[in-house]
Amino acid sequence: RGQDELEKLKIAIQELDPKSPNLTKFSDLPLCAATASGLRASHFEVLTDIQKAAIPLALKGRDVLGAAKTGSGKTLAFLIPVLEKLVQAQWTEYDGLGALIISPTRELAVQIFEVLRKIGRNHVFSAGLVIGGKSLKEEADRLGRMNILVCTPGRMLQHLDQTAGFDVNNLQMLVLDEADRIMDMGFQSAVDALVEHLPKTRQTMLFSATQSKRVSDLARLSLKDPEYVSAHEEA
Ligand code: ADP
Ligand code: MG
Repeated sequence: RGQDELEKLKIAIQELDPKSPNLTKFSDLPLCAATASGLRASHFEVLTDIQKAAIPLALKGRDVLGAAKTGSGKTLAFLIPVLEKLVQAQWTEYDGLGALIISPTRELAVQIFEVLRKIGRNHVFSAGLVIGGKSLKEEADRLGRMNILVCTPGRMLQHLDQTAGFDVNNLQMLVLDEADRIMDMGFQSAVDALVEHLPKTRQTMLFSATQSKRVSDLARLSLKDPEYVSAHEEA
């Protein structure tokens, strides 16, 4: 099941020109049927500039460093590649943690999670939040079953250090959202320590509203030969 769709997708992604001027809508992108229908059902149709710039490169497996101001649509610019990465890897609900999304605050993590639930509604992947507020043990019990986690840095590091049997060795994709705020809030060392736990062969996307020296420091530590993309459109 789905092998033909997967093969066709792989070819379409290979042939995709990430700079093509003809990419306007989500339906112009080589996305699996589940993601495409999730986007349609959520009434997303036209790509924003940052989505146009980042998603094709990410689909092709590149590490991406993206900068675009608040409200420009960065969430979908990484959530779509996360879903497609797991589809390409033929990830199943039994394969453990495939993608980790790091957010500076609980509130932003919750927002990301809600968008993921909307556009990911037709996928089988399980997704969870790791933002504290529950006992470590209660969170830990659910971790092993999750395919996609949206987390805050401190809480995630606590689990990586303390939760026995939590396996992150097959992680396919790491996302750092609001990297500038992650740095401003003093999470540099937590993120460094967190990245130490993760496998080196993975795809990484890093997004921020601003380009700063500290963001490029973080990028240097976590990304491999990244493509820099930015967008300064009016939202
Ligand atoms: P950012 O993370 O860059 O601040 P968000 O991802 O939170 O931006 O998106 C800002 C708003 O724009 C949200 O309400 C979101 O639903 C909406 N949005 C994002 N992408 C699109 C799109 N392609 N078409 C229409 N609305 C979009
Ligand atoms: Mg955002």
